[in-house]
Amino acid sequence: MTLKAMAQEKVERAGIANYSFDQDVLVMCGVRYSIEACTCGAADCDGVRLRKILPPRLRAMQ
Ligand SMILES: [Zn+2]
Repeated sequence: MTLKAMAQEKVERAGIANYSFDQDVLVMCGVRYSIEACTCGAADCDGVRLRKILPPRLRAMQ
C-alpha cells in the first residue's frame, strides 16, 4: 500500500470526509499536510504520519 493510501485510510477512520489530495499532499479544511512514513514502532501505529505544512507567511511570523 502506498503512503497516500494509508493516509487516506487514516483520515477516513477518523471520520473526516472533507479532504482531498494535491499530488502527495493531503488537504483538510484548507490545511495542507505532508504524508510521511512513521517508524515509531508503536503497536497501534498505522505507519503513517501527517505533518502540517504551514503557509510560508505564517511560518515567517513564528
Ligand atoms: Zn508511528
